[in-house]
Amino acid sequence: MMRTAEADELDVIVIGAGIAGLCAAGELARAGRRVLVIEKSRGIGGRMATRRLGEAVCDHGAQFFTVRGRAFGAIVAAAHEDAAVQTWCHGFSRDGSIGVDAASGDGHARWRGTRGMTDLPKWLANELLSSDLAGRCDIRTGAQITAVAVDGSRVRMSLTNADSHAEELTAAGAVITAPVPQALDLMRAGGMLGGAADVVSSEIRQQLEAVAYDPCFTLMLVLDRPSLVPEPGGIQFAPEAAGPISWLADNRQKGVSAVPALTVHATGGFSRAHFDAPADTVAALLLDAVRPWIDGDPATAVVAQSLHRWKFALPTTILAEPVVAVTQSPPVACCGDAFAGPRVEGAASSGLAAGRWLSRVLTEQEDTP
Ligand SMILES: Cc1cc2nc3c(=O)[nH]c(=O)nc-3n(C[C@H](O)[C@H](O)[C@H](O)COP(=O)(O)OP(=O)(O)OC[C@H]3O[C@@H](n4cnc5c(N)ncnc54)[C@H](O)[C@@H]3O)c2cc1C
Repeated sequence: MMRTAEADELDVIVIGAGIAGLCAAGELARAGRRVLVIEKSRGIGGRMATRRLGEAVCDHGAQFFTVRGRAFGAIVAAAHEDAAVQTWCHGFSRDGSIGVDAASGDGHARWRGTRGMTDLPKWLANELLSSDLAGRCDIRTGAQITAVAVDGSRVRMSLTNADSHAEELTAAGAVITAPVPQALDLMRAGGMLGGAADVVSSEIRQQLEAVAYDPCFTLMLVLDRPSLVPEPGGIQFAPEAAGPISWLADNRQKGVSAVPALTVHATGGFSRAHFDAPADTVAALLLDAVRPWIDGDPATAVVAQSLHRWKFALPTTILAEPVVAVTQSPPVACCGDAFAGPRVEGAASSGLAAGRWLSRVLTEQEDTP
C-alpha cells in the first residue's frame, strides 16, 4: 500500500509494471506526483521476463536491448553504474554458422540484464521506491485492473487483488501500458468506450483499434551438456529464413545461467498458425527445429523443458506518436511498445513521454482558475 498518500489522494495510477509503466511512473514521481503502479503479475518487468527452471535461468521474453536515444541512454548508463545491466555483444549469427554475421553488426551494443532481463525493470522499481522520491511512488503486484472509467474529474479503476478481493481506486489521471487490445477492453468495461459515458473520440478509437500484435511461443530447454550455439550465444534468424524459429539463445553463454539452457522463439507466422495447438505438439516441432544446435540426442540431452505462449508479443502496427491522449480531462494516456518505436527502448521512450504529458496536463489544470 501507499506509504505516504492515501489511495484517494493519488495523482496517477499506472497500469502495468513493464518498462513503459516504470519509466512513466519515474517521470511523474520526479515531477512531484504521487503515483501507484498496479501490476497483475506477481513479479515486475512484463515482457522483460526471466524464469528459473531448477538451476537454469532463462530469459523468455525480450532477449537484449539496444540504446539509440539520449533519454533511454541515461537510464541504461545509471543502471550500468549500479551493475544492473551490461553489454552482451554487438550482433549475432543470422543462420547459426560460426561467428557474427556482418549484416547484424550495425555498431550498436546489445545489452542484457546482469542476471537476466528483469534486472533493468527491477532496478527501475528500486529507484522508484527509493527515499530520493520521498515515498511518492508505490508498486502493487498481483492486482489486476478490470475496468477504467471516468468519474467527473477523476479516473476510477476497479481492481481484483491476489486474494480475489475487489477494490475501487480513483486518481486525477492514468497511464495505461497494457497491450492496446487489453487497454481497449479495460476502457470498454468501464464505459469510457462504446458505453453510456463514452468519452473517447472516434479518431482516437480508430487509431487504437488499428494496433495488432504477433503472438510468440517460447520454448525453454535445459541441457545436460554445452550447446552448439555459436558465440556469443545467440542466433537471430534472418526474417526470410525458412523454418519455425526466429531466435535461439544459450543462456549460459549469455552469462545468466549456471547450466546450459536454451531459449527458442517461434516466428510470428508459426505462432499464429499453432496458437491453439496442444503444447506438446508445438514443443515437439520447435525442438525438432533446434536439433542442429543440441550436441547428441535431444531425448537424453534435454533434462527439463517449458513452453510459454505470449499472446501479445510484438506489435505489428506502430502508431506514429509516442503517447496517445485518450482523454484530456481527466488525463488518461495509452503508451508502450506500439507507440512511436517498438521493442524495449521504444516502450521506455513511450513511457517517459506519457509521464511528461500527464505531468504537464495535471499542472495546467491545477493552474487554471
Ligand atoms: C518473446 C519476445 C521476445 C522479445 N524480444 C525482444 C528483444 O530481444 N529486444 C527488445 O528490445 N524487445 C524484445 N521484445 C519486446 C519487448 O519485450 C517489449 O517491447 C517491451 O518489453 C514492452 O514493454 P511494455 O512496458 O510496453 O509492455 P509489457 O512489458 O507488456 O508491460 C505491460 C504490463 O502491464 C501488465 N498488465 C496488463 N494488463 C494489466 C491489468 N489489467 N492490470 C494490471 N497490470 C496489467 C502486464 O502484466 C505487463 O507487466 C520481445 C518480446 C517478446 C514477447
